[in-house]
Amino acid sequence: MNTFSMAIHGGAGTLVKGMMTPELESRYKQALKNALDKGYLILEAGGSAIEAVEEAVKLLEDSPLFNAGKGAVFTATGSHEMDASIMDGKTLSAGAVSLITGIKNPVSLARDVMEQSDHVFLAGEGAMQFAKELKYSLEAPAYFYDEFRHNQWLEIKDTDSFQLDHSKKKDSKFGTVGAVACDKEGNIAAATSTGGMTNKKWGRVGDSPMVGAGNYANNKTCAVSCTGSGEFFIRGVVAYDVACLMEHKNMSLADAATEVINKRILELGGDGGLIAVDAKGNLAMPFNTEGMYRACKSSNGLEEVSIYK
Ligand code: ASP
Repeated sequence: MNTFSMAIHGGAGTLVKGMMTPELESRYKQALKNALDKGYLILEAGGSAIEAVEEAVKLLEDSPLFNAGKGAVFTATGSHEMDASIMDGKTLSAGAVSLITGIKNPVSLARDVMEQSDHVFLAGEGAMQFAKELKYSLEAPAYFYDEFRHNQWLEIKDTDSFQLDHSKKKDSKFGTVGAVACDKEGNIAAATSTGGMTNKKWGRVGDSPMVGAGNYANNKTCAVSCTGSGEFFIRGVVAYDVACLMEHKNMSLADAATEVINKRILELGGDGGLIAVDAKGNLAMPFNTEGMYRACKSSNGLEEVSIYK
């Protein structure tokens, strides 16, 4: 039997330790642990990597602590526009959605795009029409409301600035979420979900729903979910770059992930981190920010729930 393992993240960023109370820290860690356990138990019971990443991400989306699903950041018009993607490393099938509103679990809609449509990426009104045809029920805006996110938005509303959750300039909560898993069969998968940037406009889309940028999975190399300054992660084709270094330079998962996060993306000017797994169940969780909400567990005994370095 293959070593099976799971990693999740709840966003990378400049986590200001002073803002973090012991109570809040334990809430974050509990939310991470709940999502990790959910995915890991699926793997332990013989479930697939794709099932495990979807279920783990759904729990993170349901938590108001993270910038995905409930608790997603506010756009310039005071709404929530969410992006998500999922990829199966066994078949290389992928599904993604962007600029969707009112959907409780964007990751599930991304999985439906992968499995119930002939397409990979649906955006905006079209994605909403697809959800309607699949009989998704819509949540009212109040469901996604979070006071902290609202205050974040009020500070920059009516200005031209927009703010990444992990912006260096600002003390803030972080939040894009993601999961990667390797199941007992040695199949791997990745899923990522986000509300994007506070006060974003013009239909801005980050790296999270983009196959190869914020999310990627291929049994031959690795499954990756990213968090960070999306514009840079898109230009660095970060998730696929980790896979390329493994495939073409024969690097290990850990070396490839570190090279991309601590060298290549930094040289481009980007900040953030990623979680990754290979088909042997090895895990990597590098980040170049002060912290990254993260957790992992492997059948080889490894277990970690951490925020800071
Ligand atoms: N990468 C996400 C985006 O640019 C944000 C994040 O990771 O917090 O939309």
